[in-house]
Amino acid sequence: MVTSNPKAKINLLGMTIGQLEAFFLELGEKRFRGSQVMKWMHHYGVSDFNDMTNMSKALRLQLAEVAEIRGPEIVEQHTSEDGTKKWVVKIEGGSSVETVLIPDGNRATLCVSSQAGCALDCSFCSTGKQGFNRNLSAAEIIGQVWIASQSGSNRAGTNDQNISNVVMMGMGEPLLNFDNAVNAMEIMMHDLGYGISKRRVTLSTAGVVPEIDHLGEVSDVSLAISLHAPNDELRNQLVPINRKYPISELIAACQRYLKVLGDRRVITVEYTLIEGVNDQLLHARELAKLLRPLPCKINLIPFNPFPNTPYRRSSRKAVLAFQQVLADAGYTATVRVTRGDDIAAACGQLVGEVQDRTRRSERYITAVRL
Ligand code: SAH
Repeated sequence: MVTSNPKAKINLLGMTIGQLEAFFLELGEKRFRGSQVMKWMHHYGVSDFNDMTNMSKALRLQLAEVAEIRGPEIVEQHTSEDGTKKWVVKIEGGSSVETVLIPDGNRATLCVSSQAGCALDCSFCSTGKQGFNRNLSAAEIIGQVWIASQSGSNRAGTNDQNISNVVMMGMGEPLLNFDNAVNAMEIMMHDLGYGISKRRVTLSTAGVVPEIDHLGEVSDVSLAISLHAPNDELRNQLVPINRKYPISELIAACQRYLKVLGDRRVITVEYTLIEGVNDQLLHARELAKLLRPLPCKINLIPFNPFPNTPYRRSSRKAVLAFQQVLADAGYTATVRVTRGDDIAAACGQLVGEVQDRTRRSERYITAVRL
């Protein structure tokens, strides 16, 4: 019996419209087949070429020979008491990553992972403690949106689950998986993909400065930065990439990014509040001063604990006092409501199962035992 090697097939799921059109032209087909297939995949969640009824039988058979439409495999699905849903999806090579859907009225925000693990090792993030395995492909990134959008009960139209916002705030540093993250975001925003507005697709970075400029050249998504400290001394400890790209360079890159966007959007500044570490009033005052030259809104995230962390969440009182200092200085400062923590789906709790290639998780376990 002849068995075809499924690995040899081209996965169409992660292809942008331009790539799909090029694929069909290469097959000797018309360019518009690209639009048709894109719609089948993302509007209707179809993965079997045989169901694509506006194409000839011959073409469907040919496609099935050379191509496939394959998202990551769901291994676990959890629903929180507050309605937050988390999927653990397996990717090739043995790792798994997590995706979280946070409903809010008739809207919903999807938090998408870009890497299995993370190389940046921020001291308060559980993903960082897992070490790093590999970049996700564009198919594996958009595949998370694909899975979440099919989980709704209304299968009639587009965007069933009503994913109104996507945040690239799951596992990994999206700017260190640049091309795949950008291509996946293009599909999120494209009318034949998920049609989500560029204002509602947000990439969050720990501060890979040169890639912020690169992003401005090829995309126009909204930008969030993980700041977490008002000065370099403290930020060096919490977000080690700060030693390479200090705060002044990060803020300058954000200013350039806003200039390229050229609209009225602002940067979202994420600031995780850790008890006794970065949550004092003097930190809030220093932050207010630091951010004066940057059009921004501040999102305060009470620290979410995970096993073996030495850190604790700031008290409610400390969070509100911190927020008040920023509000008095004229900032819009919101406190991120913790969602899905009963299913370990809150910020910084996403771990999946990372086949660590940095041996960092081993070092971490040894360190916390000492
Ligand atoms: N690498 C990117 C994308 C991850 S986003 C980035 O750093 O921005 C995840 C967000 O959750 C970041 O702002 C991160 O700093 C924050 N976070 C990480 N661990 C956390 C924790 N334990 N509690 C609260 N927020 C956390």
